[in-house]
Amino acid sequence: NVKGHLRSRLPHRLVTVLEEAGQLADRCEVPLFVVGGCVRDLLLGIENLDLDLVVEGDGIAFAQKLGEALRARVKVHERFGTAILLLRDGFRLDVATARTEYYEYPTALPTVEQSSIKKDLYRRDFTINALAVRLNGKGFGDVFDFYGGQRDLNDKVIRVLHGLSFVEDPTRVFRAIRFESRFGFRLGKDTAALIAGAVKMNLFRRLSGHRLLEELKLLLSERKPKQAIKRLAELNLLKFIHPKLSWSDRLDKLLAALEEAVDWYRLLYLDRKMEVWLVYMMGLLEMLPERAVKDAFKRFPFSEQEAGRLKMARVGCHNVIRRLASKRPIKPADVYHLLSGLSDETLLILMAKSKGETVKRHVSAFLTTYQHVRPILTGSDLKAMGLKPGPQFKRILDQLLDARLNEEVKTELEEMDLVKRLAALKTDR
Ligand code: ATP
Repeated sequence: NVKGHLRSRLPHRLVTVLEEAGQLADRCEVPLFVVGGCVRDLLLGIENLDLDLVVEGDGIAFAQKLGEALRARVKVHERFGTAILLLRDGFRLDVATARTEYYEYPTALPTVEQSSIKKDLYRRDFTINALAVRLNGKGFGDVFDFYGGQRDLNDKVIRVLHGLSFVEDPTRVFRAIRFESRFGFRLGKDTAALIAGAVKMNLFRRLSGHRLLEELKLLLSERKPKQAIKRLAELNLLKFIHPKLSWSDRLDKLLAALEEAVDWYRLLYLDRKMEVWLVYMMGLLEMLPERAVKDAFKRFPFSEQEAGRLKMARVGCHNVIRRLASKRPIKPADVYHLLSGLSDETLLILMAKSKGETVKRHVSAFLTTYQHVRPILTGSDLKAMGLKPGPQFKRILDQLLDARLNEEVKTELEEMDLVKRLAALKTDR
């Protein structure tokens, strides 16, 4: 029983929600459980507030009653027998009907049928993700472990539940490596053999680009993608991203440099959102010849913006690096103009791809300083000085920013002088 863990490791508010849900389940006479990643992390002592509830019975009807009791917003997905509860203080609960899934054919979306918690857990990916904790009043906190999940958590092993697991869903192979790398676990012997079998049988060919990309995004968003990618290589899986992709010294070095750049960025901007996976995808594509990159763009449904950034990283970067690394002195305003149109993801691959410290120093100065620089005078100040909005007005503002970046002007007075000079220059001509 993990009642103590629930109470000490989850925020008080969530414990109250779970207790209330358990009492409601008693009144509705349905067994209720919290399952999956949250239970795994609860036992590992890792914070995870994504609570997945499973009801042995009508999950949607239960979710609606719970929504009323908690005064939460309820979004229902009839087709899957699931609902999402959005609590007023920002927490979110997923509620599902315990179900069995049948696969009409491998890699198809499963056909779903209501069932027991035991069967519900059997359709899951790994033993460590197939644990449930009971929430009903009597037995609150009881662990349901039908498949040896607690033993595998202790032994630090990733194990599938049955021999056809990867045939049913080959994306689980990528999930296995993700969890292995995240927790520092290793694949069980049988599971490793099943992966080798899946590779031999070429199961991944049937996977849609969409599903594979979704898994890759998750894998490449983990803390240490280099290790996970190396593992994909060891298991002969890189070829399913592209047949020409393989492990090399060059990839090893680039990924190490990327991890360094990403860690640096994370320290710098704790609050800024960046698509980390995209940075590593840029790194992988860097290893491929042009033709193969074209294939990758056909296979994976990147958004327009993602595709633009990936292409920029591949072709645009060389010029920028060459300019930044040049021996000739380069002014801050020039660095600013070279880098200001690039995404943060592109800036990081640029840092990682460049040899020596010069480029890194420029990118770092751009990110920490130049991109935030503004002149003291604004457009309204220029208007107040008698300038009329128009192309010249814009040019003067740009030149003012450049002068400020290059520290040619420092005070408001110096800026006004410059504006006057620039305006006079123009009218003189
Ligand atoms: P994370 O911490 O990365 O979110 P998670 O275990 O919570 O990990 P989710 O993708 O949110 O992962 O999935 C929730 C649960 O659903 C998993 O714990 C697992 O039991 C089950 N699950 C998810 N994907 C699959 C899959 N492809 N095959 C079988 N079960 C899956």
